[in-house]
Amino acid sequence: MTTTDLGLPAALGGEPAFPDGLPLTRVRVPDREGLLERLGAVLDSGMLTNGPTVRELEERAAELLDVPHVVAVSNCTAGLMLVLQAAGVGGNRPVVMPGFTFSATAHAAHWAGGTPVFAEAREQDITLDPTDAEARLKAADRPAALMATHVYGTPCQVEELQRVADAAGVPLVYDAAHGLGSSRRGVPVGNFGLAEVFSMSPTKVAVAGEGGLVATRDGALAATLRTARDYGNPGDYDTLFPGLNARMSELHAAVGLTWLAGLPERVAHRGALVAEFAAVTAGLPGLRPALPEAGDVSTFKDLTLIVDPELFGLSAEALGRALKAEGVDTRRYFHPPVQRQRAYAHLGQAEDLPLTDRLAGSVLTVPLWSHMEAPAVRRVAEAVVRIQGAADRVAALPEYAG
Ligand SMILES: *Cc1c(COP(=O)(O)O)cnc(C)c1O
Repeated sequence: MTTTDLGLPAALGGEPAFPDGLPLTRVRVPDREGLLERLGAVLDSGMLTNGPTVRELEERAAELLDVPHVVAVSNCTAGLMLVLQAAGVGGNRPVVMPGFTFSATAHAAHWAGGTPVFAEAREQDITLDPTDAEARLKAADRPAALMATHVYGTPCQVEELQRVADAAGVPLVYDAAHGLGSSRRGVPVGNFGLAEVFSMSPTKVAVAGEGGLVATRDGALAATLRTARDYGNPGDYDTLFPGLNARMSELHAAVGLTWLAGLPERVAHRGALVAEFAAVTAGLPGLRPALPEAGDVSTFKDLTLIVDPELFGLSAEALGRALKAEGVDTRRYFHPPVQRQRAYAHLGQAEDLPLTDRLAGSVLTVPLWSHMEAPAVRRVAEAVVRIQGAADRVAALPEYAG
């Protein structure tokens, strides 16, 4: 496609692609009637917490993920904290994890009493690089755990990461916040490592309002987590250890059940939308979506573009500004990377991850949601093509310099 076929980008005075604006994400309850019925039943039962709806959500999720144990929690961050605590993290011992992740991965390790040690991402898909993780585990003084994140729902290199964790003698815990509905070589995410923790907050693919699910094959861990989410109380108020109140409420579980139904279909639809975007932008220099390996399934919690500024002619940030002129909302997931954030400045790792820095500088997340329609995705992709076709003129504008 040439620039003339598509007209001028809005940044150069053309018609915006979305005059009314296009948000990054939209939340729509899949089955409003069904949800209202469920919520009514919870209210009528008088049991707003510690009731059967959480149990039902756990059972449905376990079936869907084909994993023996699912423990529902108030959110993914608390779930990660409790898993790490149960896995023996504490005493400020090192927890190796990606720098390219959401801050909550590191926060969870901190609150569990560990110290984050950040490792590099893989060029291909920005998930944790097993080779660098292995080197950082070897260099660490008595490492307590390895954490990895299925970034955007892209399954990690789980086989290699397990080998690395086993060699170092540490538990492997997944931040699977984005991965509810992903699979690796046919096996659902939820089955890997010691445990995997999903988020059901509203920006994720399956929503409970706020909520998290811990999936594990380890029955003893699941039992500990059931106590841990309830203050560490085994039932007689003689607490076994300092737990949290990390229970999911019945009302949130009712919302979560509504979103679990039909999840595989919604994940498939998101995949088809990403394929559509990739087809329209195929061959554009310096631009590729972050994709899972062939044979793996991603939820595409986000549709994130990786932009090489030299080849594309604009930085990811400048592309974001040019898309804003088209009415298209974007974000930079994840920029800045965690090792660069003020919360972790004291660890002195800001300059330690050059590849992660470059990748974080090159990401741009564009709109995607589960009931989005293909024409809207195509229009975003065409706007990107149009902007790239005029990249030199856009880059020459004073507000796009740099
Ligand atoms: C959203 C998110 C979390 C936190 O999930 P909550 O349920 O909000 O606690 C953790 N890790 C990643 C990668 C996330 O995107």
